[in-house]
Amino acid sequence: ILTNDKLCPFKQLQAKHNIPDSLCFSYLQIQSWLRKQKPPPALEPLTPPQQERHLSILEALCTQGKPPSKPVSFLYHDIIHKLNSAKPKFTLVWELDFQQELDEQQWSKIFKANRKLTLCTTHIEVSRKVLYQWHLVPTSLQRFNPHKSDLCWRCQAYPGMVYHVWWTCAKIIPFWTQISNLIRDITQIDLPMQPERYLLHLLPLGIPKSAQYLMYHVLISALQAISKNWLSSHPLTLASCIKAIETTRKYKIMARKAGPQAHLGETAWNSWNIFYSRVEK
Ligand SMILES: [Zn+2]
Repeated sequence: ILTNDKLCPFKQLQAKHNIPDSLCFSYLQIQSWLRKQKPPPALEPLTPPQQERHLSILEALCTQGKPPSKPVSFLYHDIIHKLNSAKPKFTLVWELDFQQELDEQQWSKIFKANRKLTLCTTHIEVSRKVLYQWHLVPTSLQRFNPHKSDLCWRCQAYPGMVYHVWWTCAKIIPFWTQISNLIRDITQIDLPMQPERYLLHLLPLGIPKSAQYLMYHVLISALQAISKNWLSSHPLTLASCIKAIETTRKYKIMARKAGPQAHLGETAWNSWNIFYSRVEK
């Protein structure tokens, strides 16, 4: 039944050996078994390997789930201004710190959150400064002044690099744990202790919008607390964050009366209000 290691077609076998139609299923079983015996031949790549190349703007547009608004204008803008599709340097630095590569969609989500998160300029300022790594840390200050210590001002044990100061310093870890607990308290959701979630606001999929809204405000208040206590070795407290979030809520209520977008957070604050009234007692 084999010719050159290939199974003869059923019709051909029928004609040659007088096989009834009823045995067609048995033939297919044999065919399926034979296929499983040898690995499928390796597929020739259609194009040369392109692991190193990042997607162009057009490719990213075609492959990402949801197209941006006004895609034609977006493409024209790209053509006219010849936007560079290579990843910006600060994204590569973050990826090096996180020891993982974030894909185009994840970065696009981070940028979108950074752009649309809030209307408050102070909040925008702090989240952008963190994203673009604008804060001057001891290691960068030492480059300007070699007499300065490059050690982290909090723990005095490790070089004060951006990632250390914001995330891995032994003195900052308890603060992030408190923030994680606060998020759990008010949203009943465990936000994984991953730096891209807390520092860049890349929230996991499937979180309800109202919980996302509160998480963003908690995370921004945390970044703000660290930023305000820059170069201070006093341990950060959750109380200042809670106060800052409550102040934000009050401003949002005021803004609700003035702007059309403010109603988005109206119901989201319900669980915060319950938490805050409990804490205040
Ligand atoms: Zn440290």
